Amino acid sequence: MKVYCDNCKSEFVIDKKARNLENGIEEHYFNCPNCDKEYIAFRTNSETREIQKKLQDEIEECKKVASKGNIQAAKKKWNRVLKLRKKHKKAMAKIN
Ligand SMILES: [Zn+2]
Repeated sequence: MKVYCDNCKSEFVIDKKARNLENGIEEHYFNCPNCDKEYIAFRTNSETREIQKKLQDEIEECKKVASKGNIQAAKKKWNRVLKLRKKHKKAMAKIN
């Protein structure tokens, strides 16, 4: 993904890195290769990572049942996905 640096206006491809902060928070960030300005992409913690994992599992399950033609089950799974997405958004908002 290409972005423009707010600071020096150069265009660059994001090379995302992660570092651990206190309280189990993982911070994902990248730097402008031209001026070295730092950008914080997002933060995660054990709660958001747990929800994210569940979310991925549910999406996989949803695809599986859908591919078997079980539309009712797929709809149920999808509702669960939507709920988890909301939960994830809330948890992310707390730390970002
Ligand atoms: Zn820059």
